[in-house]
Amino acid sequence: MNHPLDKNIQQVLYTKEQLQQRIAELGKQISADYGDEEIVAICVLKGATPFCADLMRHITSPLVIDFMAASTYGGTSSSSGVVRFQKDIEEDVCGRNVLFIEDIIDSGLTLRYLTDHVRLRHPKSLKICCLMDKTVKRKTDLYADYVGFNLGDHFIVGYGFDYEESYRNMDYIGVMKPEAIHS
Ligand code: 5GP
Repeated sequence: MNHPLDKNIQQVLYTKEQLQQRIAELGKQISADYGDEEIVAICVLKGATPFCADLMRHITSPLVIDFMAASTYGGTSSSSGVVRFQKDIEEDVCGRNVLFIEDIIDSGLTLRYLTDHVRLRHPKSLKICCLMDKTVKRKTDLYADYVGFNLGDHFIVGYGFDYEESYRNMDYIGVMKPEAIHS
């Protein structure tokens, strides 16, 4: 830990080493599943960027990267449930293997919205890889094919996860002190 905002962290949930070890395992599993088949990886902005950057370097299958963005949170720590579309992909995914790379699935509403949008373009296959799976608050029947870690009902920051757009550049994942969160 060597970040100015470390002082606001109550508990480290996953260290840099734990994250990197699990991501290497996921990359190996994905490479074994896809083999020589090309993957169109869709990184969901902004939170999945560190995860995607690390994961793609552990994938040995041919890979093309694209980006998509939507928001539900609007800068606070509680979800509004309303999904706002912000950025579409540029690749033509018709007949190709799409792999969504997401930071976390919480209610599942964001990814449900984005995957429905991509499914309309007739990909050959569509799978989901998420670093964190928070199943307790799931509001859809959406589940990931590859999961880094299962998470309880915590609000986490670091390694792509933000609180009011900060904390994303920490190399570990932690839980904030309640007094550091504005009510
Ligand atoms: P969902 O639509 O699945 O409810 O929410 C997905 C998005 O909510 C994630 O991509 C992420 O941006 C945000 N989110 C959900 N849980 C957390 C959390 O514990 N910490 C942070 N920083 N963001 C979260």
